Amino acid sequence: MARYTDSVCRHCRRENLKLFLKGDRCYSDKCAFDRRGYPPGEHGERRGRKMSDYGIQLREKQKVKRMYGLSEKQFHLFFQRADRQKGITGTNLLVLLERRLDNVIYRLGFASSRAQARQMVRHRHFTVNGKRVDIPSFLVKIGDTVGLREKSKKLQIIQDSLEAVVRRGVPQWLDLEKDGAQGIVKAYPVRDDLTMPMQEQLIVELYSK
Ligand code: SF4
Repeated sequence: MARYTDSVCRHCRRENLKLFLKGDRCYSDKCAFDRRGYPPGEHGERRGRKMSDYGIQLREKQKVKRMYGLSEKQFHLFFQRADRQKGITGTNLLVLLERRLDNVIYRLGFASSRAQARQMVRHRHFTVNGKRVDIPSFLVKIGDTVGLREKSKKLQIIQDSLEAVVRRGVPQWLDLEKDGAQGIVKAYPVRDDLTMPMQEQLIVELYSK
């Protein structure tokens, strides 16, 4: 799989939205989007042409895909899975993305970004229902307990993240226990829980062409 190696801040500038991909930096005055909120590239500041319907749909898909840090193939697989489920495909897609273990760890505050959460999952810092899980795309279920392994509890990077989560809050469908060592999936998120601006129906339209 081709790896993106340029600055992820370019994604925010391209999508014209803060995607919060770099943890604490996103809340500081070093945020590239706050400093240069126009598209990257030589003529970024001058661009303002009207986009086609396809272009608008494509940008929406790219935005959500980048927010969750997925490749095109991974994202499309999630879409296909959402499409097979009952209900509204766009909402199904977002709920599936939220249920990823790397996202849950980020939401609970064990990591300051989804990218950091993904790396920590791969490094085997977490358990689900007491069993070690090192697959970032693992989908949590209602009632699952996501916990830190004993030897990981004192890691400074995790303690720092837990302190910083106060700023963004833990969503109501998750519950972080007071000692900060584990969290519980109380419910699946509903559409109103997802507050980032996302127009998922545009993604459905794009993939339905
Ligand atoms: Fe986006 Fe964060 Fe970079 Fe700001 S610091 S541009 S929010 S990734």
